[in-house]
Amino acid sequence: MRLFDHGLVIQRINFSESSLVLKVLTRLYGKQTVMARGVRKNGRDGRRAALSGFHTIDFEGQARSQTAMLVLTRADIGHARHRILHQPTALAAAQVMQEVISRLTADADPCEALFDVTSSFLDFLEDGGDPLLHLSMVLGRVLHLLGYGWRLSGCVGCGRLDNLAFFSVKRQQVVCTSCGGPYAERLLPLTSEVIWAMDRLDWPPASGTLSSHGAGLLYRIGINCLARMAGERLLTDGPFRAMMDHRFGYTHAPPIQETADDRQRAFGNFSLPPVQGGIGFELQK
Ligand SMILES: [Zn+2]
Repeated sequence: MRLFDHGLVIQRINFSESSLVLKVLTRLYGKQTVMARGVRKNGRDGRRAALSGFHTIDFEGQARSQTAMLVLTRADIGHARHRILHQPTALAAAQVMQEVISRLTADADPCEALFDVTSSFLDFLEDGGDPLLHLSMVLGRVLHLLGYGWRLSGCVGCGRLDNLAFFSVKRQQVVCTSCGGPYAERLLPLTSEVIWAMDRLDWPPASGTLSSHGAGLLYRIGINCLARMAGERLLTDGPFRAMMDHRFGYTHAPPIQETADDRQRAFGNFSLPPVQGGIGFELQK
């Protein structure tokens, strides 16, 4: 079997002193596991540069049979992205995306839209786009592409369409003020701005689509839903949150003036220990 495609390296595992096992998201063949022999040892191997960082690579792999592991025979940089590695928040955001793909997509299950959305997300990071805004929007897109999504069709408890104020990760649905009030501590807060963004999920997001408070809330909703799907918290979530939490000079041209209180509401829980098994919410009727 011979495979030739564009790919994004999403995971690198040291296999021996000289080799790597790579997880590569390909455009046409989904996520593939590829053995890259000799790339760690030979510094002048052209494949080594192609396989580092966040470039889109043009690669070729061969396998002896349908079930054997692909062996990398060629890898070139098809579309270079050199800057993400040197921007700490962009790097942390890109790593969240890598972990989501690594843990939540099935092997060899092609999804061209996922590949395209991931590529353009990396392009925005490369071009200095707001990591929090783009990550919050792209996670929502990914949830929908993976078939998990969320429901905004009314309160999970009473079906009301107004006074929606919370989001239940467990039910992946919005909750109104009166139904959610008693469980507020276990639910994620919502604003009309975030409900609007959840409904539209514009990609790419226009700058000014969401205030940084809104982007923070949307990020929390997306990452918590994905963590629930994965069965446990994502490892890259903590570092990204910590970086956002400490970014006091954060200036994403907000349509709503961001205050210290907003920031506290959006990121206040970021340093709390992980919620085991997702955020529990059972409506008592
Ligand atoms: Zn309700």
